[in-house]
Amino acid sequence: MTTSTKTREETQGKGNMPQSYSNYIGGRWVKPKGGETFASYNPANQSEIIGHFALSTPEDVKAAVDAAQAAFDAWKHTPAPARADIILKAGYILETRKEEIARTMVREMGKVIKEARGDVQEAIDMAKYIAGEGRRMFGHTVPSELPNKFAMAIRAPLGVIGVITPWNFPVAIPSWKIFPALVSGNTVVFKPATDTPMCAMMFVECLIEAGLPHGVLNFVTGSGSKVGMPLVEDPRVRCISVTGSTEVGRKINGRCGELMKRSSCELGGKNAICVMEDADMDLVIEGAVWGGFGTAGQRCTAASRVIVHKARYKEFLDKFVARVKALKIGDGMDPTVEVGPVVNKDQVKSVHEYVEIGKKEGAKLVCGGNILDQGEYANGCYHEPTVFADVKPTMRIAQEEIFGPVVSVIPVESFEEALEVANGTEYGLSLSMYTQDVNRAFKAIEELESGIVYINAPTIGAEIQLPFGGIKQTGNGHREAGITAIEQFTEWKSIYIDYSGRLQKAQIDTHKAE
Ligand code: NAP
Ligand code: MG
Repeated sequence: MTTSTKTREETQGKGNMPQSYSNYIGGRWVKPKGGETFASYNPANQSEIIGHFALSTPEDVKAAVDAAQAAFDAWKHTPAPARADIILKAGYILETRKEEIARTMVREMGKVIKEARGDVQEAIDMAKYIAGEGRRMFGHTVPSELPNKFAMAIRAPLGVIGVITPWNFPVAIPSWKIFPALVSGNTVVFKPATDTPMCAMMFVECLIEAGLPHGVLNFVTGSGSKVGMPLVEDPRVRCISVTGSTEVGRKINGRCGELMKRSSCELGGKNAICVMEDADMDLVIEGAVWGGFGTAGQRCTAASRVIVHKARYKEFLDKFVARVKALKIGDGMDPTVEVGPVVNKDQVKSVHEYVEIGKKEGAKLVCGGNILDQGEYANGCYHEPTVFADVKPTMRIAQEEIFGPVVSVIPVESFEEALEVANGTEYGLSLSMYTQDVNRAFKAIEELESGIVYINAPTIGAEIQLPFGGIKQTGNGHREAGITAIEQFTEWKSIYIDYSGRLQKAQIDTHKAE
């Protein structure tokens, strides 16, 4: 194995040539055993290569798990406040590198610059929030049913955690998993999405610079099958924390089930904004545009459906379409651009396939619908922001996650029908209700079947101090962030201390026969 203790900058190429980056295993930058690499491209201009990254193999994964396993004991015995100090410091380093990382993010996956800054900010917020956990890590103390006996439950780390992340929040999502895993005393092997290894590496660098001991965080780039699955299969990896599509999550969760290991899955969504007859329409329009076309629709919480009461349907459609037609599309580095490219050519193709499906299903295409590949868009991965009207709730475009700039507008006759349509998909991540009626707002909170509910705001825009995640096919019952952040990364240990000096039998000595 070729190893280097140099920083990754020193392993870079020369001049304007794209540079090569290694894995980070056991505190060293290490080339993959097979020596192969893959390129990360700029989706706004595919002739720009962001860098070459390790195309790792199962052997590299094994080395990373070896390192994480070896580092576990010392890290577990490092007091939680000391672990938290390193995370807080990483947050401050992220803060100083915010602009640099945000600009890299725009180049690597295409979101517009102000959203990229928000992505990094979310990781900074998470660092600050979770660092406090180092001095909480709350357990329970409860009374014992017997005299001279003490009962409590404390948290213990699991061991090595496998972290598998998507490309759409290439810094925020790793932070949601890695910071809580580390503060809880676990060590980590991190496999980022193939589309965004550079952003992931910069995130890792912040933790290294903050003084994380060798082996506590290991970084291995490569494919889902050659890196992700071996991580799932390794018996020393005690939990897989994955965010991605429901298809991939199902595969991982199924295998983890067989192996009796924990998996925490944050998966797809088919989110909806409901617009009632009393809604503030200007607010709705801004929200629906931001929710539907922010990050070019590539958010797990994207508002890909807008369910509108018939009394306001035409008004909504006219205003919405006018606003969508005026959206400025282009390279997200231009601060006036509102919608960037989608992440890669495959994504353009799969988004466009859904446009064709929508047309065949008989939905009314009222805006967009085309791939953009001429002129300034020629080298990029662009798809026009697209709106379908008169969509039936059962159509595939209203049921399946498209993960691109396509919004389906669905007319309904009543509040009750809006709730039924909103709830009528296999997903349950984020649902929103626009109404001025407080009774309806609370009824919607009660009835909407999703992990996140918004009132008078679109489906996107979570804050890290509340739990994040979904129900139904969106997840398997875990939540990230908020007070739930450390749940997936800790085991409960229940402790009884009997200081009576004699054998006391619970349930028996407490209920002696008369
Ligand atoms: P994806 O294709 O499911 O991939 C997610 C991650 O899993 C990537 O790192 C991927 O590696 C890896 N992977 C793929 N196949 C694997 C396998 N067989 N075993 C182990 N790992 C495997 O998702 P994506 O396209 O990156 O992201 C978009 C999806 O993420 C959407 O469905 C979106 O809704 C979802 N998402 C959900 C949330 C949430 O919190 N609920 C948040 C954001 C995104 P490669 O990159 O190498 O393929
Ligand atoms: Mg890319």
